Amino acid sequence: METKGIKQEYKQRIVDTGNKMVSLGLTVGTWGNVSVRDPETDLIYIKPSGMPYHEITADDVVVMNSKMEIVEGHRKPSIEFHFHIAIMNARKDVNAIIHTHPIYSSAFSVTRQDIPGISEDFVQIVGDKVTNCKYSLPGTPELAVNVVEGLGDRNAVMIPNHGTVCVGSDIEGALKICHVVEKSAHIYILAKILGTPEVISDSDMDAMQFFARNYYGQGK
Ligand code: 13P
Ligand code: ZN
Repeated sequence: METKGIKQEYKQRIVDTGNKMVSLGLTVGTWGNVSVRDPETDLIYIKPSGMPYHEITADDVVVMNSKMEIVEGHRKPSIEFHFHIAIMNARKDVNAIIHTHPIYSSAFSVTRQDIPGISEDFVQIVGDKVTNCKYSLPGTPELAVNVVEGLGDRNAVMIPNHGTVCVGSDIEGALKICHVVEKSAHIYILAKILGTPEVISDSDMDAMQFFARNYYGQGK
């Protein structure tokens, strides 16, 4: 039986974004995961667990609801459905979540260090810094509690010894956050090798965020 409101285009977004994550070098193999919420129906579309991204088709995408129940799908959902849905429930502004296993950001999560605000793009769309949430095992409800708490109202958080979680109002926005977080982590590590990185001041961060919100882009 077909459940009302399930949309093929949302399933395709999960497939396409998974492939983009791999081609951007943000994850490898079957790791990482993607979800999108349709604000019209509140249904959440999530990647199937443990399948190589290039093999996933729209038919493999699992559809869930805010109570963490499967609404449609013949595959097991990503083991991280707990934190994907817990974030969606905590943040009404978030309709897309991407979890990656990136190289440079992971160096910060392994050493439990923050990624500071050192670049304009990062400060404008990610925030003042990205921190680590409390450690817990992958796929656990406990990790969901820790990720929601660590994320707060920022757009990214690191999971210690694991990877990052990036959020956005849509999937393109969430992917951009993942890309910019990883780029900043890379720059910071290179800058440390070259010398002493300067972090952007709080007042300049405020000014850049104000500008990005109100003036940056066409038609503002
Ligand atoms: P899934 O393949 O179940 O999405 O798990 C991958 C992962 O990154 C777990 O943290
Ligand atoms: Zn993971």
